[in-house]
Amino acid sequence: MTAALTLARVGAEVTVLEREQRVGGLCGTQERRGFRFDLGGHRFISRSGELQSMIRDLLGEDLLLRTRSSVVLNGGKQVRYPLELDDVARKVELSRGARVVASYLKEQVRQRVLPESENSFEEWVTHRFGRELYATFFGPYTEKLWGIPPSQISADWASQRISLLSLSDVLLRLVGLRRGGSRSCARRYLYPRLGIGQIFERMAEEMVSHGGNLNIGARVTGLDVHRCRVRSVRYQQGEREMEIACDAVVSTMALPQVVRMIGGRTLPAPLERSARELRFRGIRLCNVLLDLPEVSPHTWMYVSDPRYLMTRIQEPRQRSPFAAPPHQTSLMLEIPCDVGDAVWSAPEQAIYDRCMDDLSQLGFSGLRDATLEHFSSFVEEGYPIYHLDYQRDRTRLLGFVGDTKNLITCGRQGAFRYVFMDTAMEMGIAAANALLERNGHTDSAHNRLSIAELRSERGLVETHALTA
Ligand SMILES: Cc1cc2nc3c(=O)[nH]c(=O)nc-3n(C[C@H](O)[C@H](O)[C@H](O)COP(=O)(O)OP(=O)(O)OC[C@H]3O[C@@H](n4cnc5c(N)ncnc54)[C@H](O)[C@@H]3O)c2cc1C
Repeated sequence: MTAALTLARVGAEVTVLEREQRVGGLCGTQERRGFRFDLGGHRFISRSGELQSMIRDLLGEDLLLRTRSSVVLNGGKQVRYPLELDDVARKVELSRGARVVASYLKEQVRQRVLPESENSFEEWVTHRFGRELYATFFGPYTEKLWGIPPSQISADWASQRISLLSLSDVLLRLVGLRRGGSRSCARRYLYPRLGIGQIFERMAEEMVSHGGNLNIGARVTGLDVHRCRVRSVRYQQGEREMEIACDAVVSTMALPQVVRMIGGRTLPAPLERSARELRFRGIRLCNVLLDLPEVSPHTWMYVSDPRYLMTRIQEPRQRSPFAAPPHQTSLMLEIPCDVGDAVWSAPEQAIYDRCMDDLSQLGFSGLRDATLEHFSSFVEEGYPIYHLDYQRDRTRLLGFVGDTKNLITCGRQGAFRYVFMDTAMEMGIAAANALLERNGHTDSAHNRLSIAELRSERGLVETHALTA
């Protein structure tokens, strides 16, 4: 949508084909009886001044500046997130706190004396936080989120997503000389009054006002490639099979899907293998409308314990007070799963009952009686799974797509990168600019593929949420 708007603003003829009945993708918002639910709570943070101005101009007074507050629910206690070792040590019982600190210090010394390689998530986290904290929080949470052991997940995911604790920072905290969030943690974020989807609804309106076409409910089914150029895009809208001719395509479809569309049924074996290996973790969201003023003051509550179904409890009202009618609130319970598995396929009532039981064990009472309605939302491609060799597979697929000269694949699914919305939007702007500079002829594969790598410099995407 960001690419389409950038192009439409300078008078290019643009058509957006969107398979859903609404815009926004993972950043969409659903409305139900005056309650608003994102697909898992989102917040907008960006280092790009250009992007921030774009969002401010689009939303004006509808953009709120909010402060985040996140906790981990662990053994009946609430521990701040991002984890701060002093807080962890204080909240868990003394013996365990001592073990956390001791194992952290032991690992620091060990890595200095005998540094070990770190390919997996497990190794990366253990080397930085110690085995005890890994076993208490990161390990179980990560396995629950991804559905595979953290020893099978690439260290890239950890290095891009977990705020680092420096030893001096920790020690200063322990002796009380430093307070507040960890240094890498941005607590303030931007959020639209009516949910994150409002950004993309505004973009769509403006794109259409510039003469752009928006086709919702239009699922792309094929790309007609001739002499290394996409000549037309096939899509299904309702019962109808349609085709649209094009000069260039910017695609946010999942990378393996794009490869299959270009390569047809007979992909060479290595490509076929890589396309199969790059998978996504799905999410089921149990959304509950409540006749209560508030459940908790927190934006996110992480639930690492594998006994409970959900990984995060979110209360949309804590992002925007307009996410629920006055004096009422709602919960959005994030449950990772695989498409078609037992959680994905469970009847609505069974999921709701299980969530209510879990919440009551976690100390939240009265929710069942206060429920006005509940429903689930489903996300097929929630998280690109970084298996240990995912970079090999990803590079192979991107290289193949790179041969098609007027096609740019980008975004979270299209680049197969765990990016936040700001990077996905920057990719959209970069894709539009590449097309404008070349007037539809993005001849250099290097230029096109570099868009998928935008902001991938190590350490730059140091962020504040364990997942997003
Ligand atoms: C639970 C959760 C929480 C998150 N929280 C945050 C957060 O707090 N802050 C943040 O910045 N980011 C967050 N993110 C990440 C953010 O959602 C993504 O970075 C962003 O949505 C990526 O945008 P995209 O356009 O690349 O992909 P998407 O949002 O997935 O959009 C891709 C679009 O392509 C469409 N599409 C796919 N295939 C086809 C097809 N065949 N035909 C037609 N249309 C198709 C999809 O329907 C979709 O609209 C979160 C993600 C999740 C899952």
